[in-house]
Amino acid sequence: MNLELRTSNLSIIGTGYVGLTTGLGFAELGNRVICVDIDKNKIQGLKNGIIPIYEKGMEELLKKNRKRISFTTNLRKAVKESGVIFIAVGTPAKDTGEADLSQIIDVAQNLRDAIDSYKVIVIKSTVPVGSVELIRDILSKKKREGKDFDLVVNPEFLREGDAVYDFFHPSRIVIGTNSRRAADILLKLYKPLNSPTLITSPIDAQMIKYAANAFLASRISFINEIATIAERVGADIKNIVKGLSYDPRLGEGYLSPGIGFGGPCLIKDLKALISIAQSRDYEPRYLKSILDKNEEQMKSIVVKVKKALGGILYGRTLGILGLSFKPYTKDVRNSLAMRIVELLKLEGAKIKAYDPIAMDEARGLISDIEYLKDPYDLKEIDLLLILVGYKEFKDLDYAKIKRGMTNPIIIDGVNLLDPAQMRSSGFIYKGVGR
Ligand code: NAD
Repeated sequence: MNLELRTSNLSIIGTGYVGLTTGLGFAELGNRVICVDIDKNKIQGLKNGIIPIYEKGMEELLKKNRKRISFTTNLRKAVKESGVIFIAVGTPAKDTGEADLSQIIDVAQNLRDAIDSYKVIVIKSTVPVGSVELIRDILSKKKREGKDFDLVVNPEFLREGDAVYDFFHPSRIVIGTNSRRAADILLKLYKPLNSPTLITSPIDAQMIKYAANAFLASRISFINEIATIAERVGADIKNIVKGLSYDPRLGEGYLSPGIGFGGPCLIKDLKALISIAQSRDYEPRYLKSILDKNEEQMKSIVVKVKKALGGILYGRTLGILGLSFKPYTKDVRNSLAMRIVELLKLEGAKIKAYDPIAMDEARGLISDIEYLKDPYDLKEIDLLLILVGYKEFKDLDYAKIKRGMTNPIIIDGVNLLDPAQMRSSGFIYKGVGR
């Protein structure tokens, strides 16, 4: 009975995209949740109701659950008051590609001292093979597995931009553990979501996450490869994708040609998986080709811009629509739009850019371009480049934008607009694979 009472008290360590979504989601399901972070400003902001990220529905969720969720930098106190501890700190890529586990190690060291009774420690961060053993070794210096703690790998599959929806409608829940006791506690916690649930070993759970992201990345690189060929043979990738997606074996997800995949997960997780394979004496050439195609695709956009402007970008002014790594997120980590901006700048182009959501974050990464408050301020530009597929970009009055353009050229990196319509409006229009 005592266990029942305490397991509905949760701590989430790391209050970023994953941690905050998980915390708010479990609070909405009726649990008492303590969100912990080392970032004092973030915690103070959250205490004042300020959400540091943009996610649909999150503000309402916070307002509704103020009594069930709290925010703190005090890990020890949070752990003392919780039966289940989720770890959701970052696992960024090192320069070598392997995952940087320093945040995880830091948390494990703090947990080692804070654990005062049986806790289920749930690793939600995406962690490479060997991490569970690492955490176990750190904890085992002072605490006993099975008595003081059990470990679970519970990978997260949410999509930024749809994170709240995804919490309540998970495609599946993977519980990777060798402990029946810990599995039962998590099954109970997740029961209200009524989702397909898989209990596996910790290693299988880790590999499911890496394989899922590698597969999603491979679909994007695959369709970009086909788009590149379509351009050369004069086919339209939009029709090709339609023709593929009617086939239930293929489906339609992650088959949008564009500038490539960026963001905080796909690239880093693919690099980590490559690094895991290499550390086991296997050279994963197929996985490497997915990354290579992605890099080539991103650079091909710059080539298109150059070609459209006669080969020289020095002194030309380019308008950019979209900077985040995908629509409806403030997240610019590993955003290919930002990398393209960097490459265009290196070629000597002057940039005027607009993004409906991620302007402040973009400014934090690249300060020396002109950020516009309104897309209709895109004036005196030699070319317009669309890099993120925000729906509102589709509905812009392009005739109005055209009046401010020196050349009526649009490079649509995400195939957002209708080529025939743009051409009949007097634009020189180039999409991807069409
Ligand atoms: P994030 O960078 O948004 O959040 C991490 C948080 O952890 C930050 O707020 C940071 O201040 C905090 N932190 C760092 N060290 C800490 C410590 N020692 N103690 C307490 N807090 C600490 O990261 P994220 O995007 O939420 O990703 C977290 C993990 O989930 C990563 O492993 C990522 O690969 C994985 N993941 C992310 C997504 C996504 O879409 N963002 C999806 C699935 C899985």
